[in-house]
Amino acid sequence: MKHAPALFRRRQLLVSSGLAALPLWAGAAAASPLPIFDAHLHYSHDAWDPLPPAQAVALLRQAGLKRALVSSSSDEGTQMLYEAAPDLVLPSLRPYRNRSEIGTWTRDATVVAHLEARLAKYRYVAIGEFHVFGADADGTVMRRVVALAREHNLFLHSHSDADAIDRQFRQDPDARILWAHAGFDTPENVRDMLRRHPRLWCDLAFRSDHASMGRVDDGWRAAFLEFPDRFMVGTDTFTPERWHYVVDHADSARLWLATLPPAVAERIAWRNGEELFGQRLASR
Ligand SMILES: [Zn+2]
Repeated sequence: MKHAPALFRRRQLLVSSGLAALPLWAGAAAASPLPIFDAHLHYSHDAWDPLPPAQAVALLRQAGLKRALVSSSSDEGTQMLYEAAPDLVLPSLRPYRNRSEIGTWTRDATVVAHLEARLAKYRYVAIGEFHVFGADADGTVMRRVVALAREHNLFLHSHSDADAIDRQFRQDPDARILWAHAGFDTPENVRDMLRRHPRLWCDLAFRSDHASMGRVDDGWRAAFLEFPDRFMVGTDTFTPERWHYVVDHADSARLWLATLPPAVAERIAWRNGEELFGQRLASR
């Protein structure tokens, strides 16, 4: 919390310096900020004390978020946040009972029983974010995760290389996968993946090559214009400190989104996430 005032000052500077470069249509948006669907948030165990649920929700609302796709290690954090703001939080079930399981979970059969127990008790829109690479995506535990997503009609939020994404689609061609960080892959490779997989979407969390200081990279601009309905933004609060970037992230996203055609900006900012996830809990 002690860093918050400096962050907020920098954010205000960023916003006021960026406004001059915004196109005319953004004038109305500046008065009423573009809503943001943050597709990549975690509320894990070490965030609960420094940032209790009510304060975390206050940050999400201060950022002007329309919705937030939230997962956590353990899942208790997600449930606390969902209870505090059911209108805002969309729960995703992370396989990890604590953060140290990131590198071991694909070989830990007890994860399956854990997921099944949570799925029986709570409602979710996705399973993830989980980390899996290459051939590990064809292991026993991951195969069961893909099957559980199909049985429960859930998205997979997968932090993976392209190979592991391909393997999940081979297991279930009807799977719906949100590719975390767009795989930290190049815009050219991401476009190739989106062409090959019509049920693949990407979040742009924790990467800066697509845009900085209100400018969008040419390669990424081409990707956004070819696939305006397949991208979402996200902060990735993988440590408690990063919660204070949720507001900064939303504001800086508004700056670079303002350089795209308005309909494309709106899709990436919130409409894609809302259409894919927004009503999934209400309709089940
Ligand atoms: Zn993450």
